[in-house]
Amino acid sequence: MTNSNCWIPIAENSDFSIHNIPFGIFSDSDTTKRIGIAIGDQILDLAKVAETGIFDDLNIDKTVFTNEFLNPFIDLGKAKTNAVRQKIQKELTDANSILKEGTHFLLAQKEATMHLPIFIRDYTDFYSSIEHATNVGVMFRGPENALMPNWKHLPVGYHGRASSITISGHDVRRPMGQTMPPDAEKPVYGPSKRVDFELETGFVVGKNTQLGETVNISDAEDYIFGKVLLNDWSARDVQKWEYIPLGPFLAKSFASHISPWVVTMEALAPFRIEGPKQEPEVLPYLVFEGAKNYDINLEVAIEPENASETVISRSNFKYMYWNMAQQLAHHTMNGCNVHVGDLMGSGTISGKSEDSYGSMLELTWGGKKSVVLNDGSERKFINDNDTVIMRGHAVKDSIRVGFGEVRAKILPAKG
Ligand code: MN
Repeated sequence: MTNSNCWIPIAENSDFSIHNIPFGIFSDSDTTKRIGIAIGDQILDLAKVAETGIFDDLNIDKTVFTNEFLNPFIDLGKAKTNAVRQKIQKELTDANSILKEGTHFLLAQKEATMHLPIFIRDYTDFYSSIEHATNVGVMFRGPENALMPNWKHLPVGYHGRASSITISGHDVRRPMGQTMPPDAEKPVYGPSKRVDFELETGFVVGKNTQLGETVNISDAEDYIFGKVLLNDWSARDVQKWEYIPLGPFLAKSFASHISPWVVTMEALAPFRIEGPKQEPEVLPYLVFEGAKNYDINLEVAIEPENASETVISRSNFKYMYWNMAQQLAHHTMNGCNVHVGDLMGSGTISGKSEDSYGSMLELTWGGKKSVVLNDGSERKFINDNDTVIMRGHAVKDSIRVGFGEVRAKILPAKG
């Protein structure tokens, strides 16, 4: 199976190849929200495809395709969702496909409006890149105490805010916050002066657990439906003042953005690779057997108002110290239940080199230096009317699977 077998033209560098088939929720001008898949620069309307009867042997209730979220579809289970994906691949590479009859199954992505693909009941964000955790630790506590004693023994995380997660393309206002300026005696209230992004991916839980149930690490991948790009916006000045002793709060909850297409774990399977060796050895409930990580190229760009973008960081998901299965096994080991559609953020994904750091905090080393953009302007953090764009894709043996992008503009504070 190659892109050239597909009867829809697919550009060579398209993230949405025949190997991908990611799921999303879209609408066009006169119809309601429903499920589509991205293929090349088109969207295949699964609600209309389902009406042809090609999924009938899977015994799927067709209303899942017209739901405003992917949750009921994901809840069908991987056997069915992947069968749908494979049937789509078969139809799109079949010269005699029923889907070639008429044009109403397809629409251009630029003609569609994308919507939040999942109802996210709970959102957890981890802190699983050793490069990121070390950089932040060095800045805040010095090189001797960079990693806290627990860091290599458990995937550190916090429970985030699901209500303020939105998708690519929605602007966000610079948050107001309480901060303690350097050398000040009293805290002040005002717009955050240090709005930052965090380059992350998120995984979408694909299977419910009951309260009290734990997910064994060897089964954990059955509970992961797919992945999105995630920008975990962070107000660093607010964070610095508020985080002691309970961790992130309002510095994080003002907004998080995800990419609109959920890329399935089946589509990402060809890109599995070994992860960093974990030393010291982790506890048995966290021991993962097999290729632990995924080779996914990631990049961040800043696009100032009325200027072209500058790529300011290139990183990779393969650097993660803790993987998704370990995060989920840890998350549930106390009996905490998870639901279909829950979102789990990876934590900021930084690489080893200075041009692969996943936040302005690290790229400018806490604001001590500047990032220079193509238009000559400099940034320590994100300015008003800057758009931050994140992209991600994997390539192997001419197979490309990508996420598209997540973009969002920072508007001036309300004041
Ligand atoms: Mn984060």
